[in-house]
Amino acid sequence: MGSRCSVCGSSEIIYHRKYSGEIFCRRCFLENIADRVRATISRYELLKPFDKIAVAVSGGKDSLSLLKILDKIERDFPRASLAAITIDEGIPEYRDEAVENAVKYAESLGVPHYVFSFKDFFGFTLTEVVENGVSEEVGLQPCTICGVLRRRALTLAAKKIGATVIATAHTLDDVVQTYFLNILRGDTRFTPIGIRREVEGVIPRVAPFRLIPGYEIVLYAWLSNIPFQTYVCPYVERSMRNMVRTFLTEYEEKFPGSLFAALSSFEKTFIRNIQEERRCRKCNEPTGREVCRACEIEEKVLERLER
Ligand code: SF4
Ligand code: ZN
Repeated sequence: MGSRCSVCGSSEIIYHRKYSGEIFCRRCFLENIADRVRATISRYELLKPFDKIAVAVSGGKDSLSLLKILDKIERDFPRASLAAITIDEGIPEYRDEAVENAVKYAESLGVPHYVFSFKDFFGFTLTEVVENGVSEEVGLQPCTICGVLRRRALTLAAKKIGATVIATAHTLDDVVQTYFLNILRGDTRFTPIGIRREVEGVIPRVAPFRLIPGYEIVLYAWLSNIPFQTYVCPYVERSMRNMVRTFLTEYEEKFPGSLFAALSSFEKTFIRNIQEERRCRKCNEPTGREVCRACEIEEKVLERLER
């Protein structure tokens, strides 16, 4: 690139961060990402010194990168502890490969790792739901069922291992996509995403990558020799999220820094730190409805599978 690393002056450049003008060599880039995660944690007070942190590890590059970085950070807090949780939805090949990557990677870091499955918690796999036509019958895309139930399974798993907080690998892109999707669905209950909120009886969720663009995590994973998946989920389809993701990715490429601008607008303009007033009548988790989405989907699916 004919320039030098903005931090150490090395001429072995690997990345030019267009939205800030910084230039990095490999070592300084990796350190910069870890430092930005530390700064995000402290800025939003995402973690506490006594936390038992459950890292949601799907086995994809983002979550393995998060595990690597949090493992390093957690060592500075001797009273905190860290474990990895993987939810196996039961998607042959795709999830099998991811679980294997997660098991091996957690082992290499020496982090305790727990695998729970949809079958354990709900009595069915995602594949059974799709192949028996239940997804069509209930009028929900596989990704919707998968996403809602994975979130539920993570909460159940975190409770089982006594975690005090769940850390997910959602990046800046994921957070901004979700805010856009909320708008497109007419959902006006804006609550901050990936920021710690203490609600009685609920394990908070935090996203330490919420200020890091997804493409920087891809680069981080690649430079750290983190395994990438070779299988693609067979159920991935043209969901609303994919459409929003494509639009935002193209926009960010043309106008670097747009994702940060969008995040800042959402959080300055719309967010009200509302406490959820309602609890699900069945599971007592916070929800805007009488029965939460996870309970509703679980019930509908079981009803049809048992017929
Ligand atoms: Fe689940 Fe959809 Fe992701 Fe596949 S692509 S793992 S169905 S959310
Ligand atoms: Zn519920």
